[in-house]
Parts: sequence; structure tokens; C-alpha cells
Amino acid sequence: MLPAIIDTHCHLTHQRFHGDLDAVVNRAKEAGLTRVVTIGTSIADAEHGLKLAEHHPGYVFNSVGLDPFACHEVGDHFPQELAKLDALLAGKRFCALGEIGLEYHHTLLPHDVQQRHFETQLDLAVRHDLPVIIHSRDAHPDVLTILRRNPQNRGVIHSFTGTPDDARAFLDLGWHLSFNGMVTFKANDVLREAAKIVPNDRLLVETDAPFLAPMPHRGKRCEPGYVAHSLELIAELRGQRVEDVAAWTTRNATNLFRLPAALPTTG
Ligand SMILES: [Zn+2]
Repeated sequence: MLPAIIDTHCHLTHQRFHGDLDAVVNRAKEAGLTRVVTIGTSIADAEHGLKLAEHHPGYVFNSVGLDPFACHEVGDHFPQELAKLDALLAGKRFCALGEIGLEYHHTLLPHDVQQRHFETQLDLAVRHDLPVIIHSRDAHPDVLTILRRNPQNRGVIHSFTGTPDDARAFLDLGWHLSFNGMVTFKANDVLREAAKIVPNDRLLVETDAPFLAPMPHRGKRCEPGYVAHSLELIAELRGQRVEDVAAWTTRNATNLFRLPAALPTTG
């Protein structure tokens, strides 16, 4: 079995996990995962995530942010939702703020409005002293511009897709990059090139489950245990030992999200 692995980004609150979440968590444990971070993309989603974490104490950790889809949904009520987010974060039960960012692939709020909501939440992360999980789809140049004017923020570009040059631009600003199952997809040679250039201390792995299952599970519901497939491929690409990449990515995640030590594994 691999050493400890952390899935730094999954959506355990998704309806596709209703009904068999305990089995999903058990399979994650069997696959060597010692902790997972489930992402709350709205206030209600985050409250649901906190309940799941209560059922799996020391194993499931939470993050919350108003992602571009949630921002779109709340429309003019963004200030009220932001106030709720602020109050929720004050409870200190979250290891990160996110995912937040820019989504230009789907037609959501106008780009300038998305940018304002993104930047407002970056400020909130500074006030709560939390790392940020960033969603950037077809929007790297604008995300980079915003991160450049907010050097006090730190965190990760989740589900990174892009070229080695894109990767370098985020790395130069001090950000971590997180790779998921897309790195195993046949067509993604450019992404594989990007995964090779990330320093050992800036690399993270994730699933984004239930989405983007890695090969050989592509097309099926993804679950956190599958992160091992991406990790193995990343190690092979980089010419490193799987054990080392597991250890580095776990240490990076533990430090970035200030996670407590993993519980001893049982049974
Ligand atoms: Zn996500």
C-alpha cells in the first residue's frame, strides 16, 4: 500500500454520493488516503459538508467559498451571502476558503462582476488567515492579474489545466498547483508537461470527485480513493518514486491547510 495520501479537493456533498458515502470513505481509507478535504461551494453546501465531517472526525476536512456558479445563483444577494460566509468562517471549522475564482467556459455573471466577487473573497481569506482554493477555467490571465495585486494571499490553483508557461506564472507568484484525473487523459500531453515542472514542495493531488475520474475509471463516478491513479502517473512522469511523491504532496497539503496529524489507521 502507498504511504499516506490526501485528496485535497472533492465534493462529498454531491448528490451522487448520497446513499453510499460511508462505503466511499472506507474505500478511500483502503486506498491509503489518510484525510480528505471536501469543498463547500455555497453556504448550504458547506453546512452539509460540516455534518459529513462530524461523521468522520479527523478524516474529512472542510473548505467553503462562493464559487462562480454560486455567485451567479445568488445574483444581487451577493453581499448577504458574503456576510453569511464571514460568519461561517468565524466558527473556525474550515481549513481553507474556496473554491473561488473565475469561470469563463460557462456563461455566468459578467467577467468584471466575477472578478469583483473573487477579489472580495480574497480579502476575506486574509482577514480569516486562510489559504485559498482557486477555480480558474479559461481565465488564467485574469486570475493571474488579480493574484498579482493580492500578494498577501496564498493557496492552490485547483484542478490545474494549462501549459508549462501557465504553471510557471502561478508558481512564480508562490501558488501551489493541484492535479487531478485529467492528467491521466490521453489527449492531455501539455498538462503532463506542466506536471513535470512543479517543484516538489508546490505539488498537490486531488480528485474533484464525483467529477473527472482518472484512467482506468474515466467516465465513471469519481471517488477520493482514485487519487492514487493520478499520483502514480505523476510520479512516473517526473521520474520519481510514488512513495516520495505521496509523502511530498501529503506534507504540502498538511502545511498549506494546517491539517492535524492523521489519525492512526484502524482495521
Ligand atoms: Zn471542485
